[in-house]
Amino acid sequence: MTLRPLSSYRRITVKIGSALLVDRTSGLRRPWLSSMAEDVAILSGQGVEVLVVSSGAIALGRTILGLGRRVLKLEESQAAAAVGQIALAGAWSDELARHGLKSGQVLVTLGDTEERRRYLNARATIDTLLKFKAVPVINENDTVATSEIRYGDNDRLAARVATMMGGDLLILLSDIDGLYTAPPAQNPEAKFIPLVERITPEIDAMAGAAASELSRGGMRTKLDAGKIATAAGTAMIITQGDRLNPLSAIDRGERCTFFKASANPVRGYKTWIAGQLEPAGRLVVDAGAITALLSGKSLLPAGVKLVSGDFSRGDTVAILGPDGAEAARGLVAYDATDAVRIAGLKTTEIARVLGYEPRSAMVHRDDLVVSRPIQPSGEATQS
Ligand code: GLU
Repeated sequence: MTLRPLSSYRRITVKIGSALLVDRTSGLRRPWLSSMAEDVAILSGQGVEVLVVSSGAIALGRTILGLGRRVLKLEESQAAAAVGQIALAGAWSDELARHGLKSGQVLVTLGDTEERRRYLNARATIDTLLKFKAVPVINENDTVATSEIRYGDNDRLAARVATMMGGDLLILLSDIDGLYTAPPAQNPEAKFIPLVERITPEIDAMAGAAASELSRGGMRTKLDAGKIATAAGTAMIITQGDRLNPLSAIDRGERCTFFKASANPVRGYKTWIAGQLEPAGRLVVDAGAITALLSGKSLLPAGVKLVSGDFSRGDTVAILGPDGAEAARGLVAYDATDAVRIAGLKTTEIARVLGYEPRSAMVHRDDLVVSRPIQPSGEATQS
């Protein structure tokens, strides 16, 4: 398969895994970083805006502090991130400067992309960096993010950043050259997949085990990143990054998996809704409600069969079809306690139950994004 040259994209976000930048014994892998900076400079010279999402703070800090391979306590990895991040950002700044490029460090926490006001603020800052022709070098703020409120992986963080910035391509540089029909380490028969038109449940299953602490940064989080990216109109490439000039290598035709962007991407406010990482609750709805959602209507309480989760009005909820597959996401108009009380009721009955004049929709269509085409029966379609 021949891919479009990278120079034909407008705004590319590149996520770089820790192992590419840091060697556990010798520390920073300078020659690799130099070649990466050279590639960024080439693209930038061709008029492409490049955003870098760089991992490696904890790994580098661990080496600098001589902590070896032992498991770190939370405060130790936070301290390691602090030590590593300053060195990492310095190295990026030096290497990009050798090619005449300015750079700016951006450290984000989960709240910076999940809360609407902070999301807009982070976007304005990164946008301004790009206007100043400075390459944003982004990482999670690991020194302050605690385990409950962190991304924990830069795959999804990079997807959030790419879509927040309206990028047209996300590249995940990794230790695996792309997607296989099964994890190749476990299954030697696994076949390589060069092109993914859409992340269907079948594609999802190829990542192997469900998301867990251990699969962080593995294929699972890469496919999650792919869903966030492609739904918002950002294509994605997964490729092996462990070679010099890894971006030029993509143009030279080295092996990678290309994920097509959705032909009907969600935009603006809806991109933010669709990319929310953890819905606060779930609403299981009936087939009639699914038909209504697909034709662009709001979700009414009458179609809701089951409510779960402890959410407040305005939180993101996942809307599931009768088969349990996610059909849409949206901002819910009721707190969980009221949602439970009015689920299944007709609009006329709701005022009596709640004691006040209700909003007619459980999730208004303006606050709702259909996640994937599904038929009213709940079956996923291939289109
Ligand atoms: N933010 C982490 C770091 O810089 C890396 C997360 C990841 O590897 O995905 O060390």
